[in-house]
Amino acid sequence: MLAENLFQRIIEGKIPANVIHDDEHCLAFHDISPQAPVHVLIIPKKIIPTHDVLTREDGPLMGHLHLVGLKLAKDLGLVDGYRLVINCKDRGGQTVPHLHMHLLGGRDFHWPPG
Ligand code: AMP
Repeated sequence: MLAENLFQRIIEGKIPANVIHDDEHCLAFHDISPQAPVHVLIIPKKIIPTHDVLTREDGPLMGHLHLVGLKLAKDLGLVDGYRLVINCKDRGGQTVPHLHMHLLGGRDFHWPPG
């Protein structure tokens, strides 16, 4: 079961977050429970509950999220690599019903992810 959506409230400024990027289309902030030395969430300002409702018109927005992820990875010094993750719905491990991309770095990651 997905928990209450709080990312919309972060976008609206009703809940504080450690924001490191803010533009017309997206917001990025440090995860409250980091799973790596760098753990940033990149979220669209458009209300999109999860990955499997994306449409072709969201393509440029999703491309933008990736490019912001790349910029932040560089800014945060992740020169040896990083991982971008989007969890979709319950079986994908999604807990907040507002599409978000995890940027993880600063340690080694393994595969399969578990
Ligand atoms: P997911 O499990 O993919 O839905 O990811 C949700 C992420 O949101 C988790 O990594 C949480 O630690 C993170 N999170 C939950 N509440 C907050 C918050 N108030 N500020 C920042 N990150 C949060």
